[in-house]
Amino acid sequence: MSQGSIYKRILIKLSGESLSGGSSRSLDPDTLNRIAGELKEIHASGTQTGIVVGGGNIFRGLSEEAERMDRVSADHMGMLATVINAIALRDALLNQDIPATVFSAIPMQRVAEDYNQRKVLKCLMDNEVVIFAAGTGNPFFTTDTAAALRAVEIGADALMKGTRVEGIYTADPEKDPSAEFLPRISYDEVLQKNLRVMDQTAFALCRENQLAVHIFNMEIHGNLLKIIHGERIGSVVGGQND
Ligand code: UDP
Repeated sequence: MSQGSIYKRILIKLSGESLSGGSSRSLDPDTLNRIAGELKEIHASGTQTGIVVGGGNIFRGLSEEAERMDRVSADHMGMLATVINAIALRDALLNQDIPATVFSAIPMQRVAEDYNQRKVLKCLMDNEVVIFAAGTGNPFFTTDTAAALRAVEIGADALMKGTRVEGIYTADPEKDPSAEFLPRISYDEVLQKNLRVMDQTAFALCRENQLAVHIFNMEIHGNLLKIIHGERIGSVVGGQND
């Protein structure tokens, strides 16, 4: 087990928007640098880390910009957007001397490694951070589903999904002040209460594979490290004993 960490291997889902840090630009250099700094701490703790990056800061298949487009073309653009983000994140990690490799679900050998589960496992065991680009490689999916899929494929102990709020609430806390915070919840309760933790395909994969999902505020520095050290930050869905 890694030093002080409750998890040996994790998969972090970073939305595209988390890389813009609330600015009007798609990629904010200070935010990338801050995130790389947090990942450096995780890396130093010895926790093996895979990251799935979204593309919503640049393009989404289901968006106004894509309104008149064929869905498959639009989703291809969305997946390519995630590759741009993955390269930016790799660059930020390498700048902080953290070894990092991008694997793409859509082959583009001059830009990134082709996704290959065995090569990914080797990188993780060599203590490299692995960044997964191009989602699942298929249209009609999201990067949340890619995150659940890759987490299961690499045998991650937990999926960490950073958001802008503290965790899971009974309603959207940004709109409803009576929303109640739920620190620990089962997969069944998420379904019964119709809570939107992630999209249904992603959630089904986590549930089927008893993969714990941590939802936490990514904008608060140190949250991620605290969670992997066992502190009760954010909400957790399911896991082995659910
Ligand atoms: N996408 C896709 N297949 C996948 C993952 C993503 O077609 O397996 C496309 C889809 O158009 C999506 C876009 O890539 O809208 C960006 O991903 P997502 O919306 O999940 O990014 P995030 O919201 O996490 O930034």
